[in-house]
Amino acid sequence: MPDAWEGAAREDLDMGDVAAVAEEVAGQTSHMNEAAAALAREKGWAEPQKYNYDVYNASNKPREAGTEDGAAAPVWACNAAKYEWKEEYGDVGPRNEELEKMLFRSDYHNRAGDKFEHLREIKVTAETTHQPQPVKSFDDAGLHPIMLENVKLCGYAVPTPVQAYSIPAIMNNYDLMAVAQTGSGKTAAFLIPVLSKLMGKAKKLAAPRPNITEGFDSSLQGVRAEPLVLIVAPTRELVTQIFDEARRFCYRSMLRPCVVYGGGPIRDQRMELQKGCDVLIATPGRLIDFMDKPHVLSLSRVRYTIIDEADEMLHSDWDQEFVKIMSGGDTNEDADHRYMMFSATFNKDCRELARKYLSNDYVRIRIGRAGSTHLNVSQQVFYTEDNMKKQCLYDLLLAMPPSRTLVFVNSKSQADLLDDYLFNMGLPSTSIHSDRTQLEREDALRAFRTAKSPILVTTGVAARGLDVKNVMHVINFDLPSCTHGGIDEYIHRIEGRTARIGNEGLATSFYNDRNDDISADLVKILIESKQPVPDFLQSEVPEGELTFDDDTDNEGDGNGEEASGDAYGDAYADPATEYSNDTAAAAVETPAPAEKVNTGAAW
Ligand code: ADP
Ligand code: MG
Repeated sequence: MPDAWEGAAREDLDMGDVAAVAEEVAGQTSHMNEAAAALAREKGWAEPQKYNYDVYNASNKPREAGTEDGAAAPVWACNAAKYEWKEEYGDVGPRNEELEKMLFRSDYHNRAGDKFEHLREIKVTAETTHQPQPVKSFDDAGLHPIMLENVKLCGYAVPTPVQAYSIPAIMNNYDLMAVAQTGSGKTAAFLIPVLSKLMGKAKKLAAPRPNITEGFDSSLQGVRAEPLVLIVAPTRELVTQIFDEARRFCYRSMLRPCVVYGGGPIRDQRMELQKGCDVLIATPGRLIDFMDKPHVLSLSRVRYTIIDEADEMLHSDWDQEFVKIMSGGDTNEDADHRYMMFSATFNKDCRELARKYLSNDYVRIRIGRAGSTHLNVSQQVFYTEDNMKKQCLYDLLLAMPPSRTLVFVNSKSQADLLDDYLFNMGLPSTSIHSDRTQLEREDALRAFRTAKSPILVTTGVAARGLDVKNVMHVINFDLPSCTHGGIDEYIHRIEGRTARIGNEGLATSFYNDRNDDISADLVKILIESKQPVPDFLQSEVPEGELTFDDDTDNEGDGNGEEASGDAYGDAYADPATEYSNDTAAAAVETPAPAEKVNTGAAW
């Protein structure tokens, strides 16, 4: 059942009948509302793009790798170009101008925004018996020279808070649990130190490598993939994004990254693995598939196992697979195997996971209150009955200057319907959800990134962790219900998409009585992030102190009480380190109205 596991099992990929959908869409486009379309043009929105189903239907043939704009035939993200190491290179490979341009100078690559300072002002706590000294700059972090150059090529001037702490922790060989808001740079927080540490040692540690020359035949000359680093993340979009970041950081080194994910071409993925793989990034389902083929993949060399978005991994029946993944690399009982978990929230299950899989002296880093929202996302909530939502969305879009806009819905059918509606109203929308084929998902995302289709309608699962430059507006067409992630999901949606690395953004939510299960939590978040609470939610404004269930580190029932002298508390009895404000990424303390935990043993 591996694939059911992907996308947190709430959505499964069903290849669907693309041709039938194409016909349907073609039929519907004739209903294009000409007047609405004219108005959309007038307001500056681009023309909507039709799906090119011919391309999808013809897409079984091998595709050319490495093009970023997808202008030609669609390219699987897993086949994107990477630096290919050759035997004759010394410790540092020569530059490759063309690849460098593609990796580091793409227009669509997210860069730090004006509000970067905000991120540097959040409170950080690191707690462990061995407190890492935060690094003030990448130059002082003891990085391998190649890594340092790659960081500079990425344009990262100073470490974000989570990076400032995780780099020294990982460089000093600790297991790590890092909790930081979405968009705070967690990917680089593990990739930079882990890959940097391996750069000098790859020759010694890595599995034998084939000599990839013209005419390389992986079925004859291929090797078994024996990665040194295993990174697991819950969605396909997220793993390809991590892969992209890994391609940048591995540049000019011998480390070779590969990505495998469900829905992608298994043959292409296997062929990539057979060219050698030092860094494997995978969704759990596809990873297990490959683990069941020991001649293709062995985890016996793995030195670092990293679980990204660990909280999301916990949403479904992951238990068995998780155990398998976490123990996969321990066939040689190698004490040198480090485990890391990254998450945006740190609920009870995450804590349990950390206790179960991380070594006793693991370092815990928490940036701001887990689950809190950025100060630089403006949030507004409108009361909107279900039957008026479409009209409201249309009006809202036309009232805004055209910009990259993410529209969240709660079901796949709703995503289709809404995408069609917007399309027919002449707005440049596209959509992703897990009933689309993987190639369609990748293509829709590319159209969104490159602003060919600046409006993306999506389900929450499909969009988890996406890092797209300049998403200015997130619209919760449907607010998440408590059974679908509730307020955590709300935070992921709004915080993860806009205001990434400090770009300012707006979040609009449509609310009606069907959303009252989330109303109390929503109001707390609005208050905490200093946003107006609309009249119809005033009754939910709590009296007295704000409390956040999810924020407690206690081992009890999560009812908000402080941890008291149990094994967990005692182990971390050292006072929390505050990120002192003379560091490069200075932390001015900006406590939430009622910061309840974050003291001594509890955190
Ligand atoms: P998270 O995993 O915490 O949600 P990401 O790792 O996806 O965040 O990073 C968000 C964005 O920030 C990415 O576009 C990344 O390239 C960028 N970024 C990461 N670190 C830095 C840094 N030190 N300076 C500037 N930008 C950074
Ligand atoms: Mg992330």
